[in-house]
Amino acid sequence: MTAQAGPSTQHIVEKVWLSIAERRLRPGVQLKEEQLATIFNVSRAKVRQALTALERDGLVTIIPNRGAFVSKPSVEEARDVFFVRRTVERCVIERLCKSVSKADLKRLRDHVAKERVANAQDITSEIIKLSGGFHLLLAETLGSDFLFTTMRDLIARSSLITAVYRNTNRFNCGPDEHAEIVEAVAANDAEKAIRLMAHHLEHVESELDLSEIRDLSHDLRAALA
Ligand SMILES: [Zn+2]
Repeated sequence: MTAQAGPSTQHIVEKVWLSIAERRLRPGVQLKEEQLATIFNVSRAKVRQALTALERDGLVTIIPNRGAFVSKPSVEEARDVFFVRRTVERCVIERLCKSVSKADLKRLRDHVAKERVANAQDITSEIIKLSGGFHLLLAETLGSDFLFTTMRDLIARSSLITAVYRNTNRFNCGPDEHAEIVEAVAANDAEKAIRLMAHHLEHVESELDLSEIRDLSHDLRAALA
């Protein structure tokens, strides 16, 4: 296999993103180009492209002459991200109540059902993916590329914030609150759906300890394995 073959830049971005979301890669960990190139069997140029994309998403900080590190969002940034999420997700719910179809509702209910299975089986990586995925699916259902990309960015940043500031070991952006939101949308009760989403995001934010940086672990290879 040549250095240019192997996984795409997007695959590397996704893999690092997921490792951050699953809290296997902690903030402050150095992402060494050479090591990543070996792990993924790609060129250093491809690794650099992936790191640049991750920097754009706010997940990685590149320091000249020192290298790339998993970002450490500040408490202020964390509060800002949740502030923006409250605003954007209110807009998403409001529009969804006007446009939701039977097929959309089926997708949303199926998604919540998958969350319940992952919760019952206690599969952390699935729980994290599906929890964030629920919020993304709401935006995707609207068919607005802009809202979808905005939410994708916000969810990625939220995962990083959760990785740093979560005050419990459980990740429970739980299926129950998601299910209530879906049913309020299904009932076309926009006011209730908006209220439930606001309450849900408050709940998620309240489980963050926005007063300290947690202890960090540092093994790149183990985290990406
Ligand atoms: Zn949620």
